Amino acid sequence: MVRMLPRDPVGFLRSEYEQLVSNELDWKLRILQGPSSPRCIVDGKKVIMLCSNNYLGLSNHPKLKKAAIQAVKTHGAGSGSVRPIAGNMDLHMTLERKLAEFKEAEASLVYQTGFAANSGLIPQLADAGDLIVSDELNHGSIIDGVRLSKAERAVYKHCDAEDLARVIQKAEERSPAYQRILVITDGVFSMDGDIAPLDEIARIAHDHGAMVYVDDAHGEGVLGKGGRGIVSHFMLKRDQVQVEMGTFSKAFGVVGGHVSGSRDLINFAYNKSRTWLLSGSHPPAVVAACIAAIEVLETEPEHVKNLWSNTDYFRKGIQNLGFDTGASQTPIIPVMIGDSGVAKKFSARLFEQGIFALPIVFPMVAKDRARIRTIMNAALTKYDLDEALLAFEKIGKELGLI
Ligand code: PMP
Repeated sequence: MVRMLPRDPVGFLRSEYEQLVSNELDWKLRILQGPSSPRCIVDGKKVIMLCSNNYLGLSNHPKLKKAAIQAVKTHGAGSGSVRPIAGNMDLHMTLERKLAEFKEAEASLVYQTGFAANSGLIPQLADAGDLIVSDELNHGSIIDGVRLSKAERAVYKHCDAEDLARVIQKAEERSPAYQRILVITDGVFSMDGDIAPLDEIARIAHDHGAMVYVDDAHGEGVLGKGGRGIVSHFMLKRDQVQVEMGTFSKAFGVVGGHVSGSRDLINFAYNKSRTWLLSGSHPPAVVAACIAAIEVLETEPEHVKNLWSNTDYFRKGIQNLGFDTGASQTPIIPVMIGDSGVAKKFSARLFEQGIFALPIVFPMVAKDRARIRTIMNAALTKYDLDEALLAFEKIGKELGLI
């Protein structure tokens, strides 16, 4: 009898990793040595930061840092539990009240992360016999949330309200009819920096009795009155966009996901989302910094103003150099390159020149749509931006792109 060698149960770990490395699809982690600020140190090199989501520069704001330190003194380093058991501190309640006021919603709920909000809530909002209709370029955390649901799924063309209407109309022909239809879209899309036509989406959803869920991770702190986000930007009402999801990890400068809407939504969400119910709550320092971030947005409008002034300046500058910035309408400004290899080389040369901006390549975007994704920040000066534009010009010419 031939004795078979036992199979190596973990051999795939190395082989799959090596496959990623040989295809240059592995993540090479850079190390930020110090705070995330417009000029910072990455891998020992002084660089201008053009790829952080810290849109308003709040991650290093003195009021946020002070609030975090103070909360450690008064409430300790950790919360000790999940919120439904013993980890629901007065600070968590204050944050949710403040956030609801800021969002002009009846109520808000804070999750540990935006990813936990999407993956915990979406599967509860639509179940067997329901339909989820999702933009084809929605974020991975939405995709995972949708996969966790027993509902059927349909995808509509990116930012295409007409296609959404077509998909919903077709869905309505089904017998038996879907009990619920949930339409989900990012507010601002993180690869292209374009804005979802939320007003049209809300109108179509309303016509068909569907619910609207917007992930505004990249719209809050950026769009709308005082950075209140996409719902405010389109001046929509709560009964038009029933679920407004966001994150404290980007413009707010800290970490944590959140959902705002009706009191009914919030009562439902915290009783049903397993990511919320079964995961330890935020430590006091995080919660206090998030509260301070909302207060800064309410009292220091200059950050949002500066962000837009930098955005307009840099986008025009890049376009004047002869680059294409795609569909960007926001502080996410892709500089289109085309070929993945050239985009990687471009980013490496930028780093040598002291500019930190990452390439976005296949499979994150189509093979011929590789780009350098730049992200504006309110704290960058015109001097920083001019230096960055000079580097783009130099390398663009070097690589024969402009
Ligand atoms: N949605 C979108 C559109 C995002 O870009 C992100 C963060 N990359 C998330 C959700 C997840 O947010 P968080 O970082 O709070 O987990």
